[in-house]
Amino acid sequence: MSMSKKKRSVLIIPKRIVTADSKNSIIKDQAVGIIDGKISSFIAIDKVEKQNYDEVSDVSNLTLIPGFIQTHVHISQTLFRGLAEDLPLLEWLRLKIFPFENAHSNESLRVTAQLSINELLMGGTTTFLDMGTLRHGEVVLQEMINSGIRGFSGKCLIDINDLYPDFKSSTNDEIKDITSLAESFHNKADGRVKYSFSPRFVLSCSEKLLKNAKEIMKDFPGSIYHTHSSESTDEINEVRKRFHKENIEYFNSIEILDEYTVLAHCVHTSDKEKKMLKDRDTKIAHCPSANLKLGSGIAPIPLYLKEGISVTLGSDGASCNNNLSIFNEMRLASLIQKPIHGTEVMDAKTMFRMATIEGAKALHLENEVGSIEIGKKADLVLIDLDSYSNSYSDSDETIYSDIVFSSTTENVKSVMVDGQWVVKEKESLVYDQGEIIAKGTEELEYLLKRL
Ligand SMILES: [Zn+2]
Repeated sequence: MSMSKKKRSVLIIPKRIVTADSKNSIIKDQAVGIIDGKISSFIAIDKVEKQNYDEVSDVSNLTLIPGFIQTHVHISQTLFRGLAEDLPLLEWLRLKIFPFENAHSNESLRVTAQLSINELLMGGTTTFLDMGTLRHGEVVLQEMINSGIRGFSGKCLIDINDLYPDFKSSTNDEIKDITSLAESFHNKADGRVKYSFSPRFVLSCSEKLLKNAKEIMKDFPGSIYHTHSSESTDEINEVRKRFHKENIEYFNSIEILDEYTVLAHCVHTSDKEKKMLKDRDTKIAHCPSANLKLGSGIAPIPLYLKEGISVTLGSDGASCNNNLSIFNEMRLASLIQKPIHGTEVMDAKTMFRMATIEGAKALHLENEVGSIEIGKKADLVLIDLDSYSNSYSDSDETIYSDIVFSSTTENVKSVMVDGQWVVKEKESLVYDQGEIIAKGTEELEYLLKRL
């Protein structure tokens, strides 16, 4: 498969190209040439020689944008969509999510991964950072390799669990497992799949485990340290009780914050913690739907951005969102701040960059993906911005608001990762959707019986 991919050349002739490059260039009347899975040229439409390409996509009604990047998802939870409603974070974990994840088998996790990856790809997300789950971590990583999506996953680390004691592992087993998983999966599929070290959150990990994971990570350059922090007030009260510190202060004190650490949420942080995030160049993954649905609060994102702290977006899990749509997150992340900080904050262009090139930077993939530039990998989305519910203006001025505020996953027509089409004209080329939904229903039934 990879041999034929290398030889393939593709030409895409879109209506226009929204590049997300450093100048926010919007290019018209140009085609994009792709060779060996990489963007190789921009060619004036009247100069293209279609016969030189193995495949030509003449899509003059569609806009070409970079594939979206989500920096916090829970692939393992998609099967639980709709089954964990109207609860605050710690109760949601104790009563629903930990028991559900604990009941995963290889098979239920595999179909959950398939359903998740399908939903992400269909909605234009081409790269994600996954939190993983305690057991069967290899299943998700293998499915990422098989599906063609780009991203990071790894075993979710839990060696303390007061909320649901069945759902944990020993510190030594956790350390052994992550070493062997990272050796097996980091940088697989030509670097498309990478390993992430994923302590669940401060209340579920011993200090030894948190520090050891950071230490082991140094043997796997390009991997990411991914955890939750400062999500709800109940959580940070518990952290204070246990450590006599704020959540991020504690992380800082054990030296796990740096530019390869991604913290999901950061809803409740002190000024001192904000300074630590900035000084350590730690990345924040913002998940507005989940923060609202679990009643956690509204993260002070405009303040982080003002400080120059990296903020990117994730849909978190389908069991607290209940979608995996980057469009929902871009839109909501912007709208919830305007009544607090004024209408000028979090404009559409900022949101679009947060979901593309800024996401790539947060994951240290900015030399590979996140924008449409020569030499980058062809992770691309063709989106229809001429539907009845989009702007009727064709000017460049309306493009970002048209993507961020008017579009949904329905507008996504075709998706390419690494130069390979994975969605074409709204059809998945990876999964038989009827089949995985039916399998999901069946596996969910078995899983609920295992509770
Ligand atoms: Zn999460």
